[in-house]
Amino acid sequence: MRLDYLSIFPGYFDVLGISLLGKAAVNGLVDVYAHDLRDWTHDRHRTVDDTPCGGGAGMVMKPDPWGEAFDEIIGTEPDPSVHVVFPSPSGEPFTQSVAHDLSSVERIVFCCGRYEGIDHRVIDYARSMWTVHEVSLGDYVLNGGEVAALAITEAVVRLVPGFMGNPQSLAEESFSAGQDGLLEYPLFTRPVSWRGLDVPEVLMSGHHGRIAKWRRDESIRLTRERRPDLTDSDVSARH
Ligand code: SAM
Repeated sequence: MRLDYLSIFPGYFDVLGISLLGKAAVNGLVDVYAHDLRDWTHDRHRTVDDTPCGGGAGMVMKPDPWGEAFDEIIGTEPDPSVHVVFPSPSGEPFTQSVAHDLSSVERIVFCCGRYEGIDHRVIDYARSMWTVHEVSLGDYVLNGGEVAALAITEAVVRLVPGFMGNPQSLAEESFSAGQDGLLEYPLFTRPVSWRGLDVPEVLMSGHHGRIAKWRRDESIRLTRERRPDLTDSDVSARH
């Protein structure tokens, strides 16, 4: 998988060299390219923003540097196999299911907005050429798309076959099909007693059936309590 990042702060993506993502790059599972959008400006100040048409506060990212960057990095031919991600508070919510879909694509280009955002024609143009995803990390506003692009990258790349040493750990995670899309049950490890708090007895019983039932019940309880939007009627009906 090839990952490109277009940003006025490409240094944000240095962290992709750390930890498991760094290992994935070394092992050739992903190729990472961070680009400075200002490389496609032509004035002395390397300007990427201008005032909003129609007035209002803040600045908007000009389309010209984006267009030139696209031409050079992606090309000038339409190609739906290229996925272009625009992190945006007004995008579709980013979910595990979107991460799954993206984990099987060959190429993702992340376009990181700053200021008030990117001139909308850039998104319309990209949509006419490639497969575009406008995705939101949540109902809050970040300063720029870089942190969102990093979060999306981590969620996607850990699902790429070969990334996880033990792929079974993916099957049992929150939101996964193995969990019926529910939240994960609470986790414990040794020591069995710590600061007056004990590991639930059932987990030390060695009884696989009882352990599985306890975990399932806890998943359902937690999901109903914290994320009722995730419990579908099927799962509730079975319990
Ligand atoms: N004017 C925008 C609005 O009101 O929706 C906020 C712009 S924000 C300061 C600058 C950039 O941060 C956005 O263009 C986007 O790339 C990124 N961003 C901010 N919040 C985000 C979120 N919740 N999810 C994804 N990206 C976000």
